[in-house]
Amino acid sequence: MKNILELENINKKYEQGSETITVLDDVSMSVKPGEFGAILGPSGSGKSTLLSIIGALTNPTAGEVRLNGRNVHYLSKKEQTNLRLEEIGFIFQGANLVPFLTVEEQLQLIGKLIHQKNQITKYAEDLLAHLGLTDRSSHYPEQLSGGEQQRVAIARALMNQPNLILADEPTASLDRDRGKSVVNLLANETRKRNIAAIMVTHDEAMIENCDWVYQM
Ligand code: ADP
Ligand code: MG
Repeated sequence: MKNILELENINKKYEQGSETITVLDDVSMSVKPGEFGAILGPSGSGKSTLLSIIGALTNPTAGEVRLNGRNVHYLSKKEQTNLRLEEIGFIFQGANLVPFLTVEEQLQLIGKLIHQKNQITKYAEDLLAHLGLTDRSSHYPEQLSGGEQQRVAIARALMNQPNLILADEPTASLDRDRGKSVVNLLANETRKRNIAAIMVTHDEAMIENCDWVYQM
């Protein structure tokens, strides 16, 4: 099976005054469709930096990231924006929902950004039903529990039918049981859709259901 994602010798250094800090030192990995993987490490170990390099939000100092064979750091800014809109779903700690949009509107916004003119409402409704959020669709984020907010964040990340989901500490604001159910939901969606997902976490309790674990 072909790799959906390949990282080859990723390095990231930051200059701080006269000092050079090496955050990532020759990180390589390959990911196949249907795989739900974890990047595990303590705070400050470079997990978020690595995820933002994979998502073409940060340039590496050296090395290559290929998504479906395309080197994401060789693209123009506009091409990178389109790549993120069309091929990647992002999920962040604390869900990062827009406070003044309802659940349904959060999803529709993504549909509009990718010019999915027809079908937006239908697809959003189907996703919300699928994730057990139908009776929450007209609620605002502050009216939802932490677990519900993360389920909305998963629905939103799936809205553009991505090939790759990048989740940065998606369970950090949840208790252990709710955290695990969010992780299992993400794992199931990843496998069922035959896409790939990478979850960053510092919590070993969250990696049970992963196909691979990269230890930082
Ligand atoms: P993690 O997500 O594992 O907690 P990060 O990727 O956020 O780790 O950070 C890794 C290291 O890189 C930290 O020491 C952090 O201070 C440093 N770092 C992150 N971003 C920058 C930056 N823009 N400039 C300088 N140092 C940074
Ligand atoms: Mg982090």
